[in-house]
Amino acid sequence: KAKSRGRNSIAVFSNELEKEATSLLAMDSALRRAIKRNEFFLVYQPIFNVSTGRISGLEALIRWQQADGSVLLPAGFVPLAEETGLILKIGEWALRTACSQVGLFSRAAGIPLRMAVNISPVQFREATLIDAIREAVDSNDMAPHQLELEVTEGVLLDSSDEAEETITQIRKMGIQVAMDDFGTGYSSLGYLKRFPIDRLKIDRSFVTGMESTQNDLALTEAVIKMGHSVNAKVTAEGVETALQLKYLSKQGCDDAQGFYLAKPMRAEQLVEYLLTGSRRTAYPLAMPAPVA
Ligand code: C2E
Ligand code: MG
Ligand code: MG
Ligand code: MG
Repeated sequence: KAKSRGRNSIAVFSNELEKEATSLLAMDSALRRAIKRNEFFLVYQPIFNVSTGRISGLEALIRWQQADGSVLLPAGFVPLAEETGLILKIGEWALRTACSQVGLFSRAAGIPLRMAVNISPVQFREATLIDAIREAVDSNDMAPHQLELEVTEGVLLDSSDEAEETITQIRKMGIQVAMDDFGTGYSSLGYLKRFPIDRLKIDRSFVTGMESTQNDLALTEAVIKMGHSVNAKVTAEGVETALQLKYLSKQGCDDAQGFYLAKPMRAEQLVEYLLTGSRRTAYPLAMPAPVA
């Protein structure tokens, strides 16, 4: 009896594996087709300076518009693209596209905006990354310091000497490096000690808990202090309420990003948003009227 149950569970397991392999293959060819057909697009989420209330930057977030019109979020395809290596092509496309649009957005906003681009650990391991970055900055209407690469701790996991070298090279080019989702990894503190970075992004999970959990409120404050003590700026992600923003402002957080302030938008919609100065500067906190 136990034996047959055992055999059954083995059979189930290999079926699962087969299904997974098939869907991976199907996904891989769907992704290849998507690249050929230009089915990816970027949305941009505004990021605001907490003390002035003005927009300071944008984060580029990838989307996949499938043939049937449905739009897929990165969680639905980025992990698979990382597994198959296709993230290299997709990520390079995202970098080029974001850099090609930051000039337009900056003109619409009336100030040079920072453009944050998410870089997968898989891309980070490629020696070609540095050239791709240089090419993207040089061939577009932007200064190097306007580009900020968001990396997660995953980037630093495998060969940290090389990762350290890559980060140093990127920063020497005048490009900024941000650590994304700070606080969710295994040794955020260890990485902070080891890698020079320009910005920390406090993970949304901490921001979400600020109102209800004394611990989270204390933790965001600690992370902000920690960031500042290593000369990094701090951005809070996932700000969804006025109260969270108020706390973050009191705690000295530099920038904030979240649905409460602005949702990610397509390029055309963003230009319109930026051109409407009142909306661009309409800050939920009581702030002095910004100079236009
Ligand atoms: P992330 O870099 O931490 O990006 C922030 C995510 O939080 C985005 O989800 C954004 O839409 C969402 N978000 C922003 N404000 C709020 C808020 O107030 N509430 C809530 N609930 N969510 C908020 P999205 O666009 O689904 O992206 C998820 C992740 O996918 C990103 O997390 C990033 O790690 C990855 N990703 C996005 N674009 C790219 C890309 O071009 N390349 C790579 N490698 N990864 C990307
Ligand atoms: Mg990010
Ligand atoms: Mg993030
Ligand atoms: Mg996050």
